[in-house]
Amino acid sequence: MARRWARSTGILAAALLAAWLAPTGAADEAPLDGYSAASSKTQREWEAKFRALPDPKLVRANMERLSARPHHVGSPYDKDNAEWILARFKEWGWDAKIETFDVLYPTPKRRVVEMTAPHRFAAKLEEPDIAADPTSSQKKEQLPTYHVYSVDGDVTAPLVYANYGGPEDYEELERLGISVKGAIVIVRYGRNWRGIKPKLASDHGAVGCLIYSDPRDDGYFQEKVFPEGPMRPADGVQRGSVEDFPSNFPGDPLYFDRGDPSAPRYTAANAPGITKIPVLPISYGDAQPLLAALGGPMAPDGWRGALPISYHTGPGPAQVHLVVQSDWGLKTLYDVIARIPGSSEPGEWILRGNHHDAWVNGAEDPVSGQSAELEEARALGELLKQGWRPKRTIIYCAWDGEEPGLLGSTAWGEVHGKELQQHAVAYINSDSNARGFLFFSGSHVMERFLNGVASDVEDPETKQSVQERRRLSNIGNARTPFDRAEIRGHSDVRLQALGSGSDYTVFIDRLGVASLNLGFGGETQGGIYHSIYDDFYWYTHFGDTEFVYGRALAQTVGSAVMRLADADLLPFDFAALAEAVRGYTKDCEELLKKEQEETRERNLQLKEGVFRATNDPQHPRHAPREEAAVPFINFAPLDNAVDALGHSAEHYRRAAAKAAATGGLFTSPEALRPINAALRESEQHLLDAAGLPHRPWYRHMIYAPGLYTGYGVKTLPGVREGIEQRQWQEAETEIARLGRVLTADAAFIEKAARQIEQSTGGQ
Ligand SMILES: [Zn+2]
Repeated sequence: MARRWARSTGILAAALLAAWLAPTGAADEAPLDGYSAASSKTQREWEAKFRALPDPKLVRANMERLSARPHHVGSPYDKDNAEWILARFKEWGWDAKIETFDVLYPTPKRRVVEMTAPHRFAAKLEEPDIAADPTSSQKKEQLPTYHVYSVDGDVTAPLVYANYGGPEDYEELERLGISVKGAIVIVRYGRNWRGIKPKLASDHGAVGCLIYSDPRDDGYFQEKVFPEGPMRPADGVQRGSVEDFPSNFPGDPLYFDRGDPSAPRYTAANAPGITKIPVLPISYGDAQPLLAALGGPMAPDGWRGALPISYHTGPGPAQVHLVVQSDWGLKTLYDVIARIPGSSEPGEWILRGNHHDAWVNGAEDPVSGQSAELEEARALGELLKQGWRPKRTIIYCAWDGEEPGLLGSTAWGEVHGKELQQHAVAYINSDSNARGFLFFSGSHVMERFLNGVASDVEDPETKQSVQERRRLSNIGNARTPFDRAEIRGHSDVRLQALGSGSDYTVFIDRLGVASLNLGFGGETQGGIYHSIYDDFYWYTHFGDTEFVYGRALAQTVGSAVMRLADADLLPFDFAALAEAVRGYTKDCEELLKKEQEETRERNLQLKEGVFRATNDPQHPRHAPREEAAVPFINFAPLDNAVDALGHSAEHYRRAAAKAAATGGLFTSPEALRPINAALRESEQHLLDAAGLPHRPWYRHMIYAPGLYTGYGVKTLPGVREGIEQRQWQEAETEIARLGRVLTADAAFIEKAARQIEQSTGGQ
């Protein structure tokens, strides 16, 4: 209690400092959540030993080895890395193996981007090597610049510029009277996930799509370009996946669910995740002549990037010829899976993963995270030698095939889905890592837990805890006085909900395994994402050059794994979940109100003739369309469920606190076992077997990647996207369904609270 209170008031900084300096546990230290006084003391001692082990020099050595050559899916060095990782786990005393999966993985055979009018220009589509950067010249092993899962095509059409290619950009084009039907759309990277861009372009009738990196977003407008600075040089290209997984399913596009023999199977010709139109990424060096040749109206203010041209929308007179042809072969994935068996609760699994495949050398993405994961594994192996025996089984995973669409983790999660739903306690993910602030993102049942862990890890730059540093930075970055007051009034850093974009997706969205996504960032600037310049040279000049944040990541995740593996009572807490869901519900109610007001106002302005009166005939814009009035929707089923969830969560918190204070329950494994079994499955109570509307693979009713944001999360996705897409009936149906799911969850939590009270000896 004291520690948490200290965080909330900020008064006891000195006491906190003492706790870090003497982490073996001062006498007045409150037990860790889920631990008795005695087990907490032992746990703190082991964790302190663990946190002393990770070594920045070894994190650096891991990176140097893993990023030495290009290692995309199907490449020799990808397999070589997997075998090297396997050998390390074995050397450190883990029981490790490789699981393989064959997956559809197209690689480019022919790529053409050329302008045929008003003058000829052929795009290079190549990233030159840089003399100072030794691995940039490994030409033969580098994948060409392309988008994996673009359909093959050969099209010639007028060009249209569509800003970031989001829904609001197409509305703006419509106001300008510009159609993309039959056109090739050029859009810039940013704001939404890249796979959304060709999807929306084809939804609006375009026949091809080019995505370029504007220097305003990650080039010279931000900082000097590589190799003088960290940002994207003129010919740097962002490769990436364009698999349409937010509206279908992640993983191999040929399998809806690899673990279910009755689930739909596809071919390369009919897989719904493959784009409908050809798409290629290009550099700003290649994009500039194309954009400069566009006519038509001047692009709106917010659409203008940092190239030395005036940005026009087209269509034409620029005509572009675009060709994409791939080899549609299968490639083998190598997932490394390593275990430390649990001593007393081997049937309860703590999972931790990071991917090892990259687009090219991938020092930052993903090797910065993978190197930390390996350093944790070495340190845990060291503790085993010293006699530490985790109660629960620990499973470390090094995933292959993340870059093309979370292939390795999704295949493994699906194939082992049934046992994971029985045994998994939690999954902790990391990916890229840099200097800065710890991300707090994941399942809200772990909010309190993660705050506790992060309070015990020291920030390398400020020597505060990484929890306190994040909390203070949140105050500094808060946008409104209300937000600031909210942060100050709450000792824990709130978790951000998970969308998608890394390997936790199958665990949380499909299987209902409580998940965290951890990493540091916010201080390192870079424009080398998914290019040949994301390599050891770049990282050791511009990334976490001393590898102290690599150490901090290993310390944070390793401590979290240990604390989950050894807890008497699983340290899940439902109050943060209830509060988060209450907040999301309020957001949805406000979103509806905003839609009502905006529609009413727009229709009124149409009637008044505002658009006609303000239209400049030399820069004409169409008036927006009149929309039907937005109806009221009944939120009562959701509001009532949220209240019930809040009451149950409070009840659970009281019961767990009382059990901790009296102590008896915590020393009886027999009494704890059924309670922990229930807690282990608690996240699954937030799933609905039918899945989200139009995308049944996604079963979590609280979190999902956005249909039109991709990586960006949509909370209460059925309800929120129903409102955003003006499907009022669907939104109302989803409110009722979510209400039922949450009411059942509240009853489940209530039952768990009573189970604890009975085992503690009545109320
Ligand atoms: Zn990654």
